[in-house]
Amino acid sequence: METTRRGLAAATRGRRLVRAVVRDPRLRWPVRLPRAIRGQRLGAVGRRAKYLLLPLESGGLIIHLGMSGHLSVVSARAPPGKHDHVDLVLDDGRALRLTDPRRFGSVHWQPHPLHAHWLLRDLGPEPLSEAFTGAYLAARARGRRVPVKALIMDAKVVVGVGNIYANEALFLAGIRPRVAARRLAKVRLETLAGAVKSTLVRAIDSGGTTLRDFAGADGRPGYFVHELAVYGRGGAPCRRCGATLRDVRFAGRATVYCPVCQRG
Ligand SMILES: [Zn+2]
Repeated sequence: METTRRGLAAATRGRRLVRAVVRDPRLRWPVRLPRAIRGQRLGAVGRRAKYLLLPLESGGLIIHLGMSGHLSVVSARAPPGKHDHVDLVLDDGRALRLTDPRRFGSVHWQPHPLHAHWLLRDLGPEPLSEAFTGAYLAARARGRRVPVKALIMDAKVVVGVGNIYANEALFLAGIRPRVAARRLAKVRLETLAGAVKSTLVRAIDSGGTTLRDFAGADGRPGYFVHELAVYGRGGAPCRRCGATLRDVRFAGRATVYCPVCQRG
């Protein structure tokens, strides 16, 4: 069972954490949770990049679902399965259960403020925030040789722009993926920032709002896949100009662009 953040928020609202049951601490990083979390009231469930934030009174839990993990709301008495590694038992007899067959997920405790945790402190802004602008991109590109596609996929620059979204946003902005970001005029970087935002908003509108979506490296485009202009369409005609879309490997990732509509 997959649970959306909204579902988790509803399950934890007003609840206290009775205890954490760690059956197997060997996730991506060893799970070590202090006894002090017992009895603490849960705050509003949040998200930062692909991390789920579960605030408590003196700190909070930072949860990553890895490639295969999911969180479900179960009765705390439900017998655990083989891959149910952590239970966060609530005071209403239910538990948030972390299931992770491949154990690439993680659970960390962090005293407030949560964003000071080493997993979070170097992350760039959220793409839909006001902090993510063309001027911001220009500042981050200054003095570096980084290609524009690599720039917008760097989580230290901006979080949450996976390969599919980067391809689509660059097409929308009319920018070639390999061009050095610092060579682009500010107005084009402004167009690009807007294209990243509108691409993500369209993806979210198509159903990309579950926890699973920020668990995967590329995100899950869901129904959005039917609207893709370039990604997965290498060799097909550009929907805007009819030219044949080029399909290249770039930094190990599928990169598709229109040689006519996208310029350096
Ligand atoms: Zn074209």
